[in-house]
Amino acid sequence: MNIILLGPPGAGKGTQAKRLIDAYGIPQISTGDMLRAALKEGTPLGLEAKKYMDQGALVPDSVVIGLVKERILKNDCAKGYMLDGFPRNVSQAEALDKMLGDLSQKIDHVVCVEVPNEELIGRLTGRRTCRSCGAGYHVMFDPPKKEGVCDKCNGELYQRDDDNVATVTSRLRVYDEQTKPLIAYYEKQGKLRRIDGVGDMADIFARIKAVLG
Ligand code: AMP
Repeated sequence: MNIILLGPPGAGKGTQAKRLIDAYGIPQISTGDMLRAALKEGTPLGLEAKKYMDQGALVPDSVVIGLVKERILKNDCAKGYMLDGFPRNVSQAEALDKMLGDLSQKIDHVVCVEVPNEELIGRLTGRRTCRSCGAGYHVMFDPPKKEGVCDKCNGELYQRDDDNVATVTSRLRVYDEQTKPLIAYYEKQGKLRRIDGVGDMADIFARIKAVLG
């Protein structure tokens, strides 16, 4: 099963993706995570991407399309995968359709996690992640027992560089302008599954599982 997770930054796509990996045994392909990994390694691609990411802008299509093309050919994708944060605009979606057509593959479901804009800014600016194990927290909604320290491994918690108010505002604008048109794009293909992304994480996951079957 090949899935796309669609939705604004802060909708909880990453959190739900982790649960989907366990439930369906398919890997998560997050272009954001791949770009951050390239940046951490200091590769030329990572350093180039940083310029865009710091501003909340989209990295050029050719870069992310190349990353996804390489990734879906790996063995662990043979039984399916979920794309998280890709495609981000119509030209990426068209490139994906072409890429999958060439491989005789297709997208089965586009899960669109919907959360009102007012809620997203608070969710994003309060996010914290463990440097060691990657566990996610929120300073208000899911705080660690000790501030700045991971409950699971005692690692240091950090805030993503692009989770400050200014960058979050431009990421949300970019979503509205460039990514939202994908809702109509996939609706036309009969693949769109709308999910209410407000509420308890387990309930949201149950809603996703109900549409995926
Ligand atoms: P994310 O982790 O999905 O919120 O992505 C963080 C940042 O990485 C975005 O604000 C973009 O700068 C960049 N990025 C991630 N995925 C894409 C994509 N499919 N196309 C262009 N830029 C992307």
